[in-house]
Amino acid sequence: MDIKVGDILVMKKKHPVCGSERMRVLRVGADFRLCCEGCGRTVMTPRSKCEKNIKSVIGEEND
Ligand SMILES: [Zn+2]
Repeated sequence: MDIKVGDILVMKKKHPVCGSERMRVLRVGADFRLCCEGCGRTVMTPRSKCEKNIKSVIGEEND
């Protein structure tokens, strides 16, 4: 799965805090740092766990 900083991830599980299903990628690596588009909170998630929870990826720049 090709995920880059700046992409928006549409998650299968909504953010429990605010109910948003969209997360912006701030950092990729062994852990992903994501910023919730709904409430602005940042979360760290292990890559493997995060990838299982992705419904779709919306790239930042779509040519
Ligand atoms: Zn949220």
